[in-house]
Amino acid sequence: MACIKGSVITSPFLDLGLSDGLANAVDALGYETPTPIQEAAIPSVLMGRDILGSAQTGTGKTASFTLPMIDILDAGRAKARMPRSLILAPTRELAAQVAESFGKFSVNHRLSMALLIGGVSFSDQEAALDKGVDVLIATPGRLLDHFERGKVLLQDVKILVIDEADRMLDMGFIPDVERIVGYLPVMRQTLFFSATLSEEIHKIGKKFVMNPKIIEVAKPASTADTVSQRLIWTKPRDKRDVLRKLLRRETLQNAVIFCNRKRDISTLLSSLKRHEFNVAALHGDMTQSARLAALSDFKEGRVTLLIASDVAARGLDIPSVSHVFNFDVPSNAEDYVHRIGRTGRAGRSGSAFTLAASEDDKKYLHAIETLIGQSILLDGQENTGDDQTADASTPKAGKKTGNTSDTAPDTDSGGKSRSRNKKSGKKQAMNENARTGNEKTGAARDAKYPDEKRPPEWKGNSFRDSDHIPAFLR
Ligand code: AMP
Repeated sequence: MACIKGSVITSPFLDLGLSDGLANAVDALGYETPTPIQEAAIPSVLMGRDILGSAQTGTGKTASFTLPMIDILDAGRAKARMPRSLILAPTRELAAQVAESFGKFSVNHRLSMALLIGGVSFSDQEAALDKGVDVLIATPGRLLDHFERGKVLLQDVKILVIDEADRMLDMGFIPDVERIVGYLPVMRQTLFFSATLSEEIHKIGKKFVMNPKIIEVAKPASTADTVSQRLIWTKPRDKRDVLRKLLRRETLQNAVIFCNRKRDISTLLSSLKRHEFNVAALHGDMTQSARLAALSDFKEGRVTLLIASDVAARGLDIPSVSHVFNFDVPSNAEDYVHRIGRTGRAGRSGSAFTLAASEDDKKYLHAIETLIGQSILLDGQENTGDDQTADASTPKAGKKTGNTSDTAPDTDSGGKSRSRNKKSGKKQAMNENARTGNEKTGAARDAKYPDEKRPPEWKGNSFRDSDHIPAFLR
């Protein structure tokens, strides 16, 4: 936390080399301590180093690159149509969220920003570009559209961020990204982030970065320890009833409910509305303005429940979702990790419930449990920490029911004590993560990438007290 001692403001964010303006801005947002990715990335970004980072959304990754960028870009101004930095994101929602974060972090700076995403008019975006932007946040397709119309020039971009590179790969955007990077100056700083650093992603990343600092803060496909995960077996036709009972039983602040198919989203939306729940939908077939409206209603608490598809899942950044419900078991195991990653973010506690109802679900659950390396407990079963976990992919006699209250003895007291434990364990978990992160950037990483060239170690915390000259200024 930033606090005043005499006239000196202290904050762990200042210790990372960030300016007072930023330390105050994050303090106002309630950030007390940097997350592991922020600790690892911010000093290096300030020193102009390239980054090859593995971090999932929910780890505080956005601030790890936007905060230092704001301080770097503060020393200069943009020319018309020539952005000074570029952040590429795979989806409109993710790009919009990065823009929102940038807006919040830069309240004490005079920097301009433009957001180029599909589904919104070209003319407003062109007007913003004409004024000159310090930070351009874009999806690859829309950026190329503007570039081809001659509305944006990329030769002045000094910092490039490629966010969620694995998602870019899944969505077939890597060729577009390569084209865009071809229009940028060779002398630039590049920050490349991906939820996982698989061999393939590492290979792609190395095309864009020079002597990067490699940062890995979370194991690939791990689920946060702060999320309690529970499974309920029922019949397909009982699912809506089971969900309603869960929604009434749990102490909900807000929740995201995931469905596998868009038409199920519509059915569930009408059903929950009929039962007087405060609910909205978010999926790829909605217009961009309807999607943004639903998201903002949810974020600002006007809507408590959001029924979403997986396309919407990855980009969602809602700071304090208390619950995630998988109305369907996702057929892709990684989607499970992304779905439940909407809760328990940045060390907060959260609950995730999955409804299973078919033979296929058994198969999907097996893949999920293999991926996350743990069994998902049946609802009502306490996690004792020993090897008492159920094989969640098997419906158990006496647990298979549409009546969730039957399956959840003493939920209130159990739930409360679990959440207390989670809170007290939060700091320890963060420290543990930080330690693991550091180990991963040290000897273990050297062993993993023996051919990686590394610049000499630097001294000091920021580029103000270092002799290092950032790549883009050399
Ligand atoms: P991200 O991984 O960037 O999507 O961030 C996930 C959430 O964590 C966002 O809601 C951020 O506002 C929040 N967050 C990021 N950094 C911190 C921090 N140091 N302390 C508390 N919350 C944070």
